[in-house]
Amino acid sequence: MTTFTAQIQTHIPGFPRVGEARELKFALERHWRGDIGEAALEETGATLRARHWARQRDAGLDLVTVGDFAFYDQVANHIQLLGCEPARFGFHAGQSQLARYFAMARGVAGHGHAHEHGGACCGHHDSHALEMTKWFDTNYHYLVPEFSPETEFSLACERLFAEVAEAQALGHAVKAVLIGPLTFLWLGKERAAGFDRLSLLDKLLPVYGAVLDRLKALGVGWVQMDEPILGLDLPPAWRGAFETGYWQLNQVGVPLLLATYFSPLEENVSLACRLPVAGLHVDGVRAAHELTSVTDWLPAHKVLSVGIVDGRNIWRTDLDAALAQLLPIFAKRDGKLWLSTSCSLLHVPFSLAGEHALDPEVKSWLAFAAEKLDELALLKAALATFAAQAAPAPTALSRHSGPSDGTGLADGAGLSRVTGLPKGSGLSDGTALPGGSGLPGRTAEPDAARLEAALAASRAACASRRASPRVNNPAVAARIAALAPDADRRASPFPARQAAQRARSKLPAYPTTTIGSFPQTASIRSARAAHKRGELPAESYEASMRAEIAFAVGRQEELGLDVLVHGEAERNDMVEYFGEQLDGFAFTRLGWVQSYGSRCVKPPVIYGDVSRPRAMTVDWTVYAQSLTTRPMKGMLTGPVTILQWSFVRDDQPRAQTALQIALAIRDEVADLERAGIGIIQIDEPAVREGLPPRRGRWHEYLDWATRAFRVAAGAAADGTQIHTHMCYAEFNDILPQIAAMDADVITIETSRSAMELLAGFGAFRYPNEIGPGVYDIHSPRVPDTAEMVDLLRKASAVIPAGQLWVNPDCGLKTRGWPETESALRNMVAAARQLRAA
Ligand code: GLN
Ligand code: ZN
Repeated sequence: MTTFTAQIQTHIPGFPRVGEARELKFALERHWRGDIGEAALEETGATLRARHWARQRDAGLDLVTVGDFAFYDQVANHIQLLGCEPARFGFHAGQSQLARYFAMARGVAGHGHAHEHGGACCGHHDSHALEMTKWFDTNYHYLVPEFSPETEFSLACERLFAEVAEAQALGHAVKAVLIGPLTFLWLGKERAAGFDRLSLLDKLLPVYGAVLDRLKALGVGWVQMDEPILGLDLPPAWRGAFETGYWQLNQVGVPLLLATYFSPLEENVSLACRLPVAGLHVDGVRAAHELTSVTDWLPAHKVLSVGIVDGRNIWRTDLDAALAQLLPIFAKRDGKLWLSTSCSLLHVPFSLAGEHALDPEVKSWLAFAAEKLDELALLKAALATFAAQAAPAPTALSRHSGPSDGTGLADGAGLSRVTGLPKGSGLSDGTALPGGSGLPGRTAEPDAARLEAALAASRAACASRRASPRVNNPAVAARIAALAPDADRRASPFPARQAAQRARSKLPAYPTTTIGSFPQTASIRSARAAHKRGELPAESYEASMRAEIAFAVGRQEELGLDVLVHGEAERNDMVEYFGEQLDGFAFTRLGWVQSYGSRCVKPPVIYGDVSRPRAMTVDWTVYAQSLTTRPMKGMLTGPVTILQWSFVRDDQPRAQTALQIALAIRDEVADLERAGIGIIQIDEPAVREGLPPRRGRWHEYLDWATRAFRVAAGAAADGTQIHTHMCYAEFNDILPQIAAMDADVITIETSRSAMELLAGFGAFRYPNEIGPGVYDIHSPRVPDTAEMVDLLRKASAVIPAGQLWVNPDCGLKTRGWPETESALRNMVAAARQLRAA
């Protein structure tokens, strides 16, 4: 019987590296400030790694993962490992490898600034640091490798091997992880025209071979090769390269686990299954429907690792459902199966342990990284128990498990049937639970009883979540059911609205405005923080925010801007601010997730039907409008962005959640309008990043995403001008859908591409008004008037002047007042010059 147990192994593709209390972040920042040296930073790294491996072992995982740690980014680690650091950082002799690493990541002093802002629209802007971009469809940003025909590779860094030795010295069974060569090349960018980076593969493979040789010599049991690009639409040459590439790497003789995640394999299923590797990891959450075909296609001698626990979201796993999915696979694989999370746990917070303020019921529905390790141990124990009872013939398992979709076991009682354990009994063959599996009460009770209790707790949590009135709000459901089919359409087409809006606000040509936020000064941040801590009473807090708003309005009037904003002083974050006021959202205390480098974000958790108990922005906006006779632009965050920057429910489609948020925003639009606000901006910077990895799915996503925006805006009267703002630098392939959002005005980021971006809008004959950003807010540099005039001339060559607005690229919250004022003064002067021309 134990033969089955021995063949179920648990591991994870990766673990969060920043630390339970964000130790890495703080150590990095101290190091960058010069407060601690490299040795102290290295020590923090080693401590964290040791702790995180111990977590994995103590939870009962069979292998610990080594190579997922990085001081900044795992791709940057590979750039050093593979010896392809671009030479342009002015590396000099005597400079440490770590100093070179940070130079690549953060730029070189005297060459502009480091990545100081990050977040979705900011961050990858230093022309000298490596560019940053999103890691597939996550909110994690990686440093983009640069490739040219001159790029050479060599085994240039010992760090990975040292970490393996470190883990081995601690007594761990090691699985090393590498980004596979094809994904590494794919993620890079070509720095020479007409050059194809795939042509570097022949030079790259021998270096990967050398890395594998070293890992083999160290006695590493497995090497996980991450190739998530197998879930993308790959050109034939890239697909073909997998065959030759892995044939070569397999020669080294160290067992390779090819890891895919984030997206179904689709046409690459058979390719992934036949590559000459020892095992295949698949995403059992996003590609659950492919599990059967992968199980059938993958040759019997290979290991199948099923990522059954969601690595991208924070919900507790429904273990009954997971086991129902696993059992038929387990049977077909002859009891040989690896269990894992769908992808690296880098994308979820560390642990629930510190979440004392979280509502206990909501908390019982969640599992962060540490809890997900326990879930794997639990699944393994349950599966092993079942195997022990159903043995010897694995075919008996298939009979037990019913149809291959496992429906026979998907009900709540399924798991009791699976474990079949009488209360308090020992496992029938005495199979022990994995050492220290983290199951509750592990010292007092017998193993089987502990397993039973842990499963029951998990089942109860899932049942409570399904039935909870906090999750299900009948009023929200009724409203959606009753939503008119044309709720996503404004009353009149754009030309009629444009006429009504012009009659109302009588703006000059080339109207000037800003994107919403003004500098978040230290005094604003400390007042907000003190208020949050309960140290600043509401009246004093509100008075100080009003003073900030009055200041910002005064500055804008003095600068001569045409459409003013209140400045967003009261907002810490454009999603959190709204989430905190909406029903259906929860906030964690320590739910940090790495965004890039030392920067972490704390996404809200959308757990239930979303609704808006009361107006969220009206008071501030009305106050701001009371200070000026110029139009005050209301400022809201759009449904797609709120969705995209939160942890989202997995018990209903994302589209449904987006629509619920849209209705809340729609009510806010109506309230602002009723309060006399005639211009309302609904920010949607995250529309582009929500695109699914596969193009074939774009259409469906864009349909519901743009509809959600239109529902949010749809109730506005013709004379109310709806703006939207997006700061992503690429629109050309989704222009029809951007146009279909039908905002009266869209402001976009264009200054750094010297208005090139606008060409697409021009060629497409984008029908509504556009504000192409005329200056880069990511840099403290103040552009002069001539420069902005030049950009506006370029813009008016492609977009009719009557459609153009004048504004910066994005919000100004990360800037200081002096540079903001100088830049805006020049911007207003530029608009005046164009009007005069
Ligand atoms: N209104 C927001 C601001 O100005 C927009 C931010 C963004 O686009 N990410 O800060
Ligand atoms: Zn922006």
